[in-house]
Amino acid sequence: MSAAATGMGVAIVTGGSRGIGRACALGLAEDGYDVVVNYAGNKVAADETVAAILAKGRKAVAIQGDVGSEGDVLAMFAAADKLGRLAVLVNNAGVIDRAQRVEDYDLARLERMMTINVIGSFLCAREAVKRMSTRHGGKGGAIINLSSIAPTLGAPGQYVDYAASKGAIDAMTLGLGREVAAEGIRVNAVRPGLIETEIHASGGIPDRVSQLADTIPIKRGGSAEEVAECVRWLASDKASYVVGAILTVSGGR
Ligand code: NAP
Repeated sequence: MSAAATGMGVAIVTGGSRGIGRACALGLAEDGYDVVVNYAGNKVAADETVAAILAKGRKAVAIQGDVGSEGDVLAMFAAADKLGRLAVLVNNAGVIDRAQRVEDYDLARLERMMTINVIGSFLCAREAVKRMSTRHGGKGGAIINLSSIAPTLGAPGQYVDYAASKGAIDAMTLGLGREVAAEGIRVNAVRPGLIETEIHASGGIPDRVSQLADTIPIKRGGSAEEVAECVRWLASDKASYVVGAILTVSGGR
């Protein structure tokens, strides 16, 4: 019987209800994982994603929780423990904000951005390491962080705070990757460019990808599935010697 048929363990995908996270959740289910689909508030989308995974013959649960809340993160991992052995964490949940210059940022904006994008990723990585590390009796695993090409561009006049939050993710990927490499855990990141999801509408520019498509060397935005393919590869044994890497998925941008 193939590994996919017997099950590969559990994958937690934060922000797995929509966009890139949803594509990762569905793809990892195809690869044989049972999936925890975390979401912030859109229960309908989360339930749809879970139904699509169940239809593939894998287990799945939708778990509401803000990754920036320690209590919510602990509850999500406790729910995952009930499903089986944690094998993969995709640190995908992330937010942008309205395009603004830095001098116009208020504290609430900065706190939200850093709490969700940076602290949320750290809290989830911490809980994953406790379960995966051979140091704690675990059997290893893979953590994949969603970075962005924003730190390579700086996002001036728009989202310097977002770019900085993803720069922190790049540093965490390298540092944690080296910290736990000998304990059976591979930590890597993908660095998407402009991907067709609803995140751009949440920042007030729904047609951002089509507006900028001509500036992308490949002349189009990417799909969530094109990013998820890279996440799936990093989660798999095919990437067995890849540690602390940041894989750019940007059509050349
Ligand atoms: P999206 O379409 O806006 O979806 C965001 C997902 O994250 C949703 O499932 C949402 O849940 C969830 N979420 C938001 N805040 C959360 C929180 N505090 N706790 C838990 N879940 C939360 O975003 P996306 O475009 O797929 O982006 C996914 C990741 O890729 C992000 O980290 C983003 O920064 C990164 N990225 C995206 C692009 C791009 O062009 N799209 C480029 C580079 C990097 P609900 O459904 O409940 O709202």
